[in-house]
Amino acid sequence: MAEEQEKKQPEKPELKDMSAICPIGEVLVIAEHILGDLQPVTLELLGAGRILADKMGQPLLCLVMGHELGDMPQRLLDHGADRVYVADHPELKNYRTLPYRRVVCDFLESLPSQPHTCLLGSTTTGRDLAPRIAAHFDTGLTADTTELDIGPYEHTSKVDPSKIGLYPNCLYAIRPSFGESLKARILGPWKNPQMATTRPGVMVPLPRESRKGEIINIPVNLQETDHRLTVKEIVREVAKGVNLTEADVIVAGGYGLGTQDGFNMLQELAGCFENSAVGASRKVVDLGWIPYQNQVGQTGKTVRPKLYIACGISGAIQHRVGMSKSSLIIAINKDPDAPIFKFAHHGIVGDCYQIIPEMIKQFKQAQSTSGVKEVVGTH
Ligand SMILES: Cc1cc2nc3c(=O)[nH]c(=O)nc-3n(C[C@H](O)[C@H](O)[C@H](O)COP(=O)(O)OP(=O)(O)OC[C@H]3O[C@@H](n4cnc5c(N)ncnc54)[C@H](O)[C@@H]3O)c2cc1C
Repeated sequence: MAEEQEKKQPEKPELKDMSAICPIGEVLVIAEHILGDLQPVTLELLGAGRILADKMGQPLLCLVMGHELGDMPQRLLDHGADRVYVADHPELKNYRTLPYRRVVCDFLESLPSQPHTCLLGSTTTGRDLAPRIAAHFDTGLTADTTELDIGPYEHTSKVDPSKIGLYPNCLYAIRPSFGESLKARILGPWKNPQMATTRPGVMVPLPRESRKGEIINIPVNLQETDHRLTVKEIVREVAKGVNLTEADVIVAGGYGLGTQDGFNMLQELAGCFENSAVGASRKVVDLGWIPYQNQVGQTGKTVRPKLYIACGISGAIQHRVGMSKSSLIIAINKDPDAPIFKFAHHGIVGDCYQIIPEMIKQFKQAQSTSGVKEVVGTH
């Protein structure tokens, strides 16, 4: 019987080694800053890029464009880059698509061989710049990845026989797909650089340590056609309270609150903790109960606080992807079968309007005796 089954196994075709098509090589992170503030996603990309580069035994490169960047290049080294390329020019002070695209493409073309991987943040800037670079080099780009890895790929499709073979060093660009119900591993093994943008708040940055590396200035040759757009002023929206992605404690509300006024109660609960913020599900953002900047999830922010208290949130997969990496999740929901209880660390079955006022009372009492408002935990 076992022999018979063995015979039925289809024969595996001999696969040609295709490593020459996209050989191992450096990993490049394109840095992002706004008004001189290095964006956290850049440090997160360096953390993820370091792992990929080490897996291939290759250097981690970083390209930063701007003007009078101060200690930014050294910070990029300190957070894991082996080599930082600096394009410094007054016209690069603020992000503009065409000049930045020109510098990145010129830089990549000046290299003796293309980096294996090129990473940008899934931010407004990254989403604008990455496709232009990919189009220029006619290479693949996966948007909004949540995991990255390197591994082999056996291509056996006969559609284009010239492509059949074993590609040993592919970038695995992993992202939720089909309404976030599946994790898709997306590969573009036909050419280097293999490109991806990564969601802010997902990858883990390396701690800043004094590291040695090279800082190399590169030439900037902008052309007349690059100056079609002028930035007159950048106005920053002043966020009220603590930024969601930096909060240690998030008290998030969903449709189960029943009304916009429920968020006043959540604000009061959040106020029991230092460095806290109020989050929300998309359903209540869509209803206009709370601004979009408070939305957690697939189309909102990805957060990883020490404590996440989900109040009247069902735990749809699109919400879960934005908060499941929180160190401690407490869910309050009146439905004992709500999906959120499947991944929350602690669940309270009951009505928010009975439980939250009691929690506020208890926290306030405890604080008046101990004076402690800080949540101690690990990330
Ligand atoms: C492409 C796409 C992207 C999306 N992106 C996001 C995203 O980024 N973030 C996001 O959150 N969603 C997102 N969604 C929507 C998501 O699918 C859900 O519809 C949404 O998260 C549900 O919000 P909710 O949990 O507040 O509401 P519901 O699913 O309606 O859940 C309300 C919960 O409250 C409970 N409840 C009711 N009354 C009470 C009470 N008094 N006390 C306690 N519990 C009570 C109910 O039992 C229920 O579980 C997206 C959807 C799509 C298709």
